[in-house]
Amino acid sequence: MTDCGINKECRAFRRLFTLVVCGIATGCGTPESSPAQPTDQVRVIPQKPTNEPSSVNDDVLPRDIVDGDHVAASVFRRSQPDPHLNAKRLAASGIHVLQSDRLILLTDRDPATVQDLPAIADALFEHLHQACGPLRPTEQGAEFQAIGCLMSDVDRFETAGLIPEEIGALRHGQQWGYRFWVRDQDEVYYRRHLVLHEFVHVYMTVDTPANDLLGQWFMEAAAELYATHRKAAAGPEFAVMPHGFRGFDGWGRISAIRRRRIDLPGDGAERQPLPSLTEVLSGAAGQQVQDANYRWWWALGWMLNRHPNYCDHWEHLCHCRSQTEFDTAFASLTSVERNRLNTDWLLFCESLCGGFDPNRSFARHSPNETYPATVHVLADQGWQDTGCDVKSEDQLNVSSSGRCVLNDTTIPWESESNGITLEYNQGRPIGELVAVLVDSKNAVVSRRMTVGKEWAWNSTTSGRLWLQINDSEHDRANNSGEYVVQILNE
Ligand SMILES: [Zn+2]
Repeated sequence: MTDCGINKECRAFRRLFTLVVCGIATGCGTPESSPAQPTDQVRVIPQKPTNEPSSVNDDVLPRDIVDGDHVAASVFRRSQPDPHLNAKRLAASGIHVLQSDRLILLTDRDPATVQDLPAIADALFEHLHQACGPLRPTEQGAEFQAIGCLMSDVDRFETAGLIPEEIGALRHGQQWGYRFWVRDQDEVYYRRHLVLHEFVHVYMTVDTPANDLLGQWFMEAAAELYATHRKAAAGPEFAVMPHGFRGFDGWGRISAIRRRRIDLPGDGAERQPLPSLTEVLSGAAGQQVQDANYRWWWALGWMLNRHPNYCDHWEHLCHCRSQTEFDTAFASLTSVERNRLNTDWLLFCESLCGGFDPNRSFARHSPNETYPATVHVLADQGWQDTGCDVKSEDQLNVSSSGRCVLNDTTIPWESESNGITLEYNQGRPIGELVAVLVDSKNAVVSRRMTVGKEWAWNSTTSGRLWLQINDSEHDRANNSGEYVVQILNE
């Protein structure tokens, strides 16, 4: 028992029965190129009996639990617990207290190594305020302030009474109400990332009913999206697209997705077909590789947040404050855009790379074409719809002509549709005309196929044919020109 007041708070929180458990982790010292990956899961704690100990103070209970009201119908968010921290006693336990307006961080690390974290959390709070809408006030008018433990030695925090028994085994991170716990990481970036991930969970759950959290995929996608950050001269930036390993040590989402797509060394499970949107939404994409859901949830969150067709829907989802509200908003997205979204998801993952250009590299859809079709494939765009539906056993004959300029910097690199063998992307020469087939259920995208100047192909699957001029999706802006492609169906 300590003076920190956590035990009192924990008794109160036992009336909550939903706990967001974040096992986001990569093994220590895991660079982006490493196969180790993050994990997460949402665990539902069974509802406690109603005969709670009489010592529980209702003033720290969320209003929906106290009086049965639906929080979304209340004008208040959950009450902010007073942690009653005794910094002197915590210091005697080797636990330091760092504090900003929006975060109290308890850590047994050298405080000099994490002193920037509370201020970054403050900046993230402002970002979330803009992206997800403001939080309602508490009934007492308390300011939002999360309480996080960043722990090198978990036993030290347990001994100090800072980890309630409901938390159970802690893999990497967990969040509960205004509080969260994170195991320390070797990598500087990933340490910050995990803390910010849990901070997002706090923001997005304290204003929703405890038994009415939004969809799991969405909660984790949002936490991953907004925790992905970059320190810049003007202040931290959030929801960024990493350009490479540097500055993002231990994160590794893009590398993991690329290993799934390209025949790089890795275990067999890593080289399965890209998961469909349905698999990602249900969490099934992470079944074969431990902790793999996080890479897909991050990617989906980033795509929805940045794609011009879906960013308004994403913003709407972020403003939801109950599952009912969320389900209605998500259904409006899926019913209107679902088929297109399925395809956009597959083609985004197929071509995802560090620095992916949201202005040029999302898939471009076209109206249906009839054979013979003439298609103009632009060098400064990613996957482009031929408009050509293909049936199983169709035989296509494709020919192309034209020139394009790639990487027009000091010396323009001109290419025809066989490509330039000076530089490669995804194992193929840049400038090469390549194709994929998205199956008719929008659930599977094929491996890349070389088209070049002439291509005869017997399809074994029904679907839609897509083309692009091979280049990295972070490097389209300095391209120009097009290939003109004739597509015959014999
Ligand atoms: Zn999480």
